[in-house]
Amino acid sequence: HAPDIRHSLSSAARETHARLHGRIEGAVASYIPALAAMPPDLFGIALMTPSGAVAEAGDTRHPFTIQSVSKCFTYAMVLDLLGRDAVRAGVGVQPVGEPFNVIELDPRSNRPFNPMINSGAIAVAGLLRQTLGPDAFAMVKARLSACAGRMLEVDAAVHASEAESGHRNRAIAHLLRAAGAFTADPQEAVELYFLQCSLLVTAHDLAVMGATLAAIGTNPLSGKEVFGVDAVRDTLSVMFTCGLYDGAGDWACRVGLPAKSGVGGGVVAVVNRQLGLGVFSPRLNADGNPHRGLLACEMLAEDLGLHAFDAT
Ligand code: GLN
Repeated sequence: HAPDIRHSLSSAARETHARLHGRIEGAVASYIPALAAMPPDLFGIALMTPSGAVAEAGDTRHPFTIQSVSKCFTYAMVLDLLGRDAVRAGVGVQPVGEPFNVIELDPRSNRPFNPMINSGAIAVAGLLRQTLGPDAFAMVKARLSACAGRMLEVDAAVHASEAESGHRNRAIAHLLRAAGAFTADPQEAVELYFLQCSLLVTAHDLAVMGATLAAIGTNPLSGKEVFGVDAVRDTLSVMFTCGLYDGAGDWACRVGLPAKSGVGGGVVAVVNRQLGLGVFSPRLNADGNPHRGLLACEMLAEDLGLHAFDAT
């Protein structure tokens, strides 16, 4: 590990944390009680290089549910399992300026626009379920755990209320099944999606997971290959263009990093071959993105010169 790099990353994490500490706009997700109970002002920033050097500030070890941040990792997994063409038959790669839970398919293909919104992620879950059968969740959990470098577990209370309240996601699963995006039972597909969303992670875990993508699929801590090169390339591409829902275009210009957010308060961002960023801040903006988490990524990108198209 290069100590000078670690030093500048540590001070960047600490400074960003200190500068944004008071930015407590927005509100914790409240569509289920288990999420509404999260202490709203927690804030953690973690950075990891592909060689495993880590920098952390704040509440980086506080667990929260991964929610939609899981979408990029299940997408990488299904690409590995089925290859790009078979996956593209079930879900597109087209950005859409709509909220994450939009019930609308791409009229050109009758498929979800992209895998970073609920419809696309549920299509991915359907493809995983039909390919892997009843063990699908065990395998998803194992793959995301390999990516995080430790065994991840489900938050049973969040899972129970996701499953109980998830009527819109169930409707999407049935719509996708009717459209032929997958052949699995739509109830099984959406159940897999509820389970994956309910996995507990920390900001530190998201930094490791981001660093695994940054290292072209190899986990920096274990040295194990978690995702193949082609899967990582496609995944980072859709994270860049579609990761922030209706805010994606603005994000690409302003921050210039592939990223994915979730309503649990997590954000993962990736600097290709250089860095994984994991941020936790549970207050969400009107788009359902962690408000301060996005500010932290933006500030770090600015201070460390991380934008994909920075000239210097
Ligand atoms: N479980 C949530 C849902 O499907 C996840 C959404 C999110 O994180 N944006 O509605």
